[in-house]
Amino acid sequence: MENRVEIGKTGLRVTPIGFGANTIGAHNLFQNIDEEVSRETIRVALTEGADFFDSAFMYGLGRSEELIGEILAETGRRSDVVLATKAAHIVNGDQIKLDNSPAFLTEAVDIALERLQTDYIDLFYIHFPDGRTPPDEAVGALQRLKEAGKIRAIGVSNFNMEALAAANKDGYVDVVQDKYSLIYPELEADMIPYCIENEISFIPYTPLASGLLTGKFTEQNPPQDFRKERPHFQGQKYLDIITKVDSLKALTEQHQVSIANIILATTLGIDGIDVVIPGAKSPDQVRANMKTLDAKLTKEEIAQVRALFK
Ligand code: NAP
Repeated sequence: MENRVEIGKTGLRVTPIGFGANTIGAHNLFQNIDEEVSRETIRVALTEGADFFDSAFMYGLGRSEELIGEILAETGRRSDVVLATKAAHIVNGDQIKLDNSPAFLTEAVDIALERLQTDYIDLFYIHFPDGRTPPDEAVGALQRLKEAGKIRAIGVSNFNMEALAAANKDGYVDVVQDKYSLIYPELEADMIPYCIENEISFIPYTPLASGLLTGKFTEQNPPQDFRKERPHFQGQKYLDIITKVDSLKALTEQHQVSIANIILATTLGIDGIDVVIPGAKSPDQVRANMKTLDAKLTKEEIAQVRALFK
């Protein structure tokens, strides 16, 4: 595995194992979030060599961005890190609305710059389409922010194929982020080929299938939180996946890495994917995921792992 890669054609060069920051300060999404643990997780990500951070307004309603900004200021490491963040949500109590209007996005970038304590954001995504704003107008607003130097690359996330094609009408989309992992490979049929054809980097979110592909869940020990309601964590499907995950143990022994490392290294072996952003809730999980850099899988092994989950 290469130690540094370019994210598509953005000119942004990073270690291919990034840091997904959706639990950082994310009291609105997860239970028992301890901000001291979040701070330490960011510090450890930096010392372990992660230099691509993925945040969003929705992760703690700005708190993930604030904590990242705080630790980058504390460590003086801002210029070592490629910062990605996202916006689209307007949260009012229990009510959530989406907005992609140029005015909203322009203001959202300014507010994110403040929270992150920086004067540029490397990669800014429209987090979800709002279904109203013409996607090319929304991306056009980000293009103007790019020209003004406030952001360096443009991303869209959770756009379907039609919305993505509309968003990329002028060829301004640099990165697409969408849900993909070895156990839900559906986007290999259309979105990933579209990205390759249009020189867009595809960044999969939930590459560990929310922890299911780490090997820590078993028949006797399923997750006890929101995940137990999700289709992949239920019934025969769940049992089949954990059996397949368990069968990777021989490969982990051979390469002296973990199951999560094998999964992430395999995901990075897929055409069109330059980087992965596994989420980490603790310093130990960051340390464990960064060890993926030691997983030197052959092309045959990558094909074998992918085939296992097809
Ligand atoms: P993920 O990377 O598939 O799974 C992360 C979760 O798995 C962690 O929160 C942790 O949860 C567990 N985990 C991580 N490393 C582990 C390890 N080495 N051993 C055991 N367990 C481990 O899913 P994700 O965090 O949802 O997605 C990755 C990133 O993508 C996010 O952080 C976020 O930046 C981004 N994302 C974007 C969107 C979007 O709409 N654009 C949506 C979702 C995520 P537990 O400890 O609780 O098991």
